[in-house]
Order: sequence, then structure tokens, then C-alpha cells
Amino acid sequence: MKKFLFKLLKRSRVSTIYNHKPAILDVPASQPDHKNLLSDSNNDSNKELLFEQEIAKAIENEDFEIYYQPQVNTEGIIYGAEALLRWNHHEWGFVSPGEFIPIAEETRHINPMSDWVIQKVCGQLRDWKDKGLMVRPVSINISPVRLMEEGLVEFITQQLEMNNIPATYLEIEITETSLLKIDKRVLSTLEALQELGIRIAIDDFGTGYSSMEYLREVHADTLKIDQVFINNMNMTNEKDLAIVSSILHLAKGLNMRIVAEGVEKHEQFHFLKQKECDYIQGYLFSKPVPADMYEKLLRIGYIKPVKHDIKPESERRKYYRFEFPFPVLGKMTVTEVNDRKVNLGATKILLKDISLGGVKIQSSLKLPIHANIKFRFKFTLMDEQFNIGGTLKWKDEAEGDTFLYGFAAALNQKDEDRLAPLINKMSVLRNGNQEIPETEFIYDDSNAFLAKTS
Ligand code: C2E
Ligand code: MG
Ligand code: MG
Repeated sequence: MKKFLFKLLKRSRVSTIYNHKPAILDVPASQPDHKNLLSDSNNDSNKELLFEQEIAKAIENEDFEIYYQPQVNTEGIIYGAEALLRWNHHEWGFVSPGEFIPIAEETRHINPMSDWVIQKVCGQLRDWKDKGLMVRPVSINISPVRLMEEGLVEFITQQLEMNNIPATYLEIEITETSLLKIDKRVLSTLEALQELGIRIAIDDFGTGYSSMEYLREVHADTLKIDQVFINNMNMTNEKDLAIVSSILHLAKGLNMRIVAEGVEKHEQFHFLKQKECDYIQGYLFSKPVPADMYEKLLRIGYIKPVKHDIKPESERRKYYRFEFPFPVLGKMTVTEVNDRKVNLGATKILLKDISLGGVKIQSSLKLPIHANIKFRFKFTLMDEQFNIGGTLKWKDEAEGDTFLYGFAAALNQKDEDRLAPLINKMSVLRNGNQEIPETEFIYDDSNAFLAKTS
């Protein structure tokens, strides 16, 4: 059992925490915070068993959702998207696929899960086609476990026919590890899929065994450069640049389409563009977004890169963020300006979300964002009173004459110990559609409320 878990832990990637908005559309909640469950665990084998049971339940209850991450050409025109599974567990919140896919593979739950994804994506493509949208292909990740199982080609054919959509709308992503042993059955499955008109992509290229033999045996259409090469690509490191250039060159020579994954920085994008990389998939253009959001992007047809580079993982938001079902009333005071204590009285504000890192607030006051201005916020959650200090980090205009602010809290250990279980409790209650007691929620329209009280 230990060995199994070790393998899982090794394979599961670090949970990704997201906090930026895609280029054109405002999608604040499009990327959920993922929880890294196994690493929180004290009792690994119990947790593993529990996890397995929860996956089985989730399949039955269809608790999964598919997000779509656009792939764009170097002009930002949307070429297609990758379908990525999301699991919003009623108690744990969002669980990273890097965490549950390996367990699902180990327990073979990946088989029904993969078929569910295929079915949903085909249904979605039909819906977009029926709406008259210019449909672009969607790539689906197929685990080696499902690839070896019987009936994949038949199942996909049936789904395409049922939804009356052409096979060219689909691409199948397989990882190099699926090809570890060039199994005859896998090869003939891939060939049969290609005969239907489905494209095959080799995912995460460069991290597996990168054998040239695979490239020769499998006539894949697309090569996806793994994000480690892109993310680590340092413009001053000749080696990194040479590796990426060589993969691009190799793909061109083999007449394969190439997609660079994990593009987060403008300089990475410019380098790839210069080297004539065909397609880009990365947070610089868009994170994976829910289907309705991707549909909006499809209608526009192109995406502009975000203005600023995406911050490295270590600088991203580190905490689980709880969004209140309704804004919570609080009071804000300015306590210090340029190291001088001030007393300016308190003003009412609304709390929109909370984490151990801080709160998002809405206020009718136009406040400067400055590290030398210190604030305190008072509020009550489930009968527990808080009075926390810190500074404002960002400002956004909200509707009407109000503003949204990100407040970074400097919590002491005692407050953190009180707040952490409360956030947990509130999440469980909200997910179970139960009322959160002893908390002053404002049910009126936020702008009207703030205008009235200012
Ligand atoms: P993958 O197939 O290589 O998918 C790309 C992953 O990179 C996604 O993570 C995506 O959100 C992330 N990504 C894309 N651009 C960027 C970027 O600019 N920066 C960073 N830091 N990350 C970026 P995600 O959604 O967490 O999925 C992780 C892996 O889980 C996937 O890797 C895939 O191997 C697996 N997975 C996800 N959905 C499915 C599925 O439906 N079936 C199977 N078999 N595996 C899946
Ligand atoms: Mg993939
Ligand atoms: Mg990949």
C-alpha cells in the first residue's frame, strides 16, 4: 500500500491555485482553487480508500464538470480547446485532476470517467453546432488505461453518430507513457481513430521517454510540448532555448502540428512566435474555463494575451477562498498612514469573500492602494468576532459608484486558528445549501445598500 501511495504522491502534481482573469472576458470564478487532499492526510490508507469511494460516488452523481482551455494561434485566433475535468466535491471543494486521475487510473474508475467526458464533449459540440457557432475541435485526454480497454473506437463512433457531428471535431491526447510498450492493440486503436478522421496528439512531449521510435510508429498529428520546458524556459539560458527550438524543429520535420503548453509570459510567447510555433495553450491567453464561458470566447473568435505576465506559482494566492452566498456587513477603519496613527472613524463595507490571506470587500469609498496605509476590518462570522489589520492590494471598479478591493490580512496565529475551521464550516453549510447562522448577511442590492449607508 505504501508503495502505491508513494507512486500516487509522486505522480500527483502540485495543486494549482488560480487567481487571474482571462484576456477579454471577466471570469472571476472561472478557475477554482484546488485542494491537495493526499498531502493533507494523516492517515493515508484511509484517505486513499475514502477518496476511491468518493470518486465512485462522483461518477454516479455526475459531480464532474468539463472546463475548456482555448488553444490559439500566434494571432490569438481560437483554433480549438482542450477538455479538462474538474471535480467539485461537496465537502472538499475543487480537487485537482493531478490528484484524482492517478487514483482513478489505479482503480480503473478512469474507464467510465473517460466515457463520460467523451459523451459530454460530443453533446457539447452538437449544442454549439446547433446554435450555429463556428465549431472548433476539442481535444480529450485519454488515459492509457482506457486506451487498452476494449470498445473505445466503437464508443466514440456511436457518440459521433448520435450527435451527428464530424470526427474532425475531435482530437485525442495521449501521453508518451501510454506508448511505453508499443502495444499492437493501442496502435490499431489509434489507427482506427485516425481513419474515422479523429486527430491524435502526443501530450506532455519531452517528459516521458521521448523515444523517436514512438514518433515513427504512431503517426500522430499533433505534438504538445510539455509545460515544464516552457515554464522553465529562461531567455538567458541557451540550453532551454535550444531544447524548445529542437522540439519545434523536430515536429516541423515530421509535419506535425505543434502546441506549446503552459505559456504564461510574454517573452515565452514571443520566442515561440519567432520560432513559428503553431499554437499556444496557456494562462497568458486563458485558463481553462467552464463551457458557457468558452462559448462566449468562441463567439468572439480570438483572445488577446493578458497585459502582465502570470505570476509564478509561489507568488500566487496560497489559500482556499470562500465566497459568501451574500455579502457580509463589516466595518473598516484607517489606522495608520506613513507610520503615523490616525483616527478617521469607521465606515460600513461589504465582505464578498474570505481566505486566511485576506478578504475581498466592496466599498463606496475611493481608496488609494498603498503599503503605507494600514486598515482594520471588523466583522462577525457565525457569532465569532474578528478585528483584523492589513493593507489593500488591489482595486477594481464595481457596478454603480462602488469599488472592490483586495485586502491582505496580517493574521496572528490566534485569529488564523479561529478563522480556518470557520471557513471550513461555512463551506460545508453552503455546499449543503444550508443557512450560515449568526452572520450579518446583506440581502439588498450591494450598490444600493452602500449608497444608502455612505
Ligand atoms: P494535461 O493534459 O497536460 O493538461 C494541461 C494542464 O496544464 C491542465 O492542468 C491545465 O490547466 C494546465 N495549464 C495550461 N496552461 C497552463 C499555464 O499557463 N500554466 C500552468 N501552471 N498550468 C497550465 P489540469 O487541468 O490541472 O490537468 C492536469 C492533468 O490532469 C492534465 O494534464 C491531464 O493529464 C489530466 N487530466 C485532466 N482532465 C483529464 C481527463 O478528462 N482525462 C484524463 N485521462 N486526464 C485528464
Ligand atoms: Mg492534455
Ligand atoms: Mg499536457
